[in-house]
Amino acid sequence: MNKVYICFPGGKHKALTMSYDDGRVSDRRLVALFNQYGIKGTFHLNSGLFGDSRRIRPEEVRPLYEGHEIACHTVTHPTIARCPLPEVAQEVLDDRRALEALAGYPVRGLSYPNGSLSPEIEALLPACGIRYSRVVGSSDSFALPEDPYRWQATCHHNHRLMELGEAFLALHKKQYLYLMYVWGHSYEFDDQDNWSLMEDFCRMMGGQEDIWYCTNIDFMDYMDDSRRLRFAADNSFVMNPNARDLYISVNDGEPVRVPAGQTLRL
Ligand SMILES: [Zn+2]
Repeated sequence: MNKVYICFPGGKHKALTMSYDDGRVSDRRLVALFNQYGIKGTFHLNSGLFGDSRRIRPEEVRPLYEGHEIACHTVTHPTIARCPLPEVAQEVLDDRRALEALAGYPVRGLSYPNGSLSPEIEALLPACGIRYSRVVGSSDSFALPEDPYRWQATCHHNHRLMELGEAFLALHKKQYLYLMYVWGHSYEFDDQDNWSLMEDFCRMMGGQEDIWYCTNIDFMDYMDDSRRLRFAADNSFVMNPNARDLYISVNDGEPVRVPAGQTLRL
């Protein structure tokens, strides 16, 4: 019987994603840096705070974040574990509505403002159309997220960034899928005068043939699609019911592309 492994796009087994909060003007410099090195990120925005001079302007949202993900961070950034649940639902749904009017696509990602969450809020989010939400802190791990509503990054950029990046680049064994996930706030680079840290990281991590550069929702959607693959009981064929091509490896051979909407003999 065929032994099948799920792969990332192109048959890759490593993915890198970035996640930055609050939509401050320093995002301009950070996006330019990501674009220079082909790195993808997610930007979690508060649609109710756009009038603030330290934040990017609403008309800037779509062109600035082109090619990256625009995601929610609630309308006004409250510590939501202290708020009544209906208020939390409105903070999320109203943020989605406002951001979608700018982005032009469904906005389905969230990061918890002030890292604040509760089991009740986690349970509420799927009904608000949210597919994942990021918590704060660093896992120091390249493991895939087990709970999408408690998605913890590998590291904040001030926590062992270069060391973890080097360890990630050195991963060659293909029996696992690996994800490196970095989070922070772009204004921290101004406050701490350490833009060189992120410049060094992007230079080191960009342009690697074995890394899939993805936004947070790219990653989540691809993994969700891969779980919908329909394999024959003996793994002799597979049907891909999704709208995108997916990649698998069969008996540790070269990556196999399973075309969208088709059945493929293995
Ligand atoms: Zn925030």
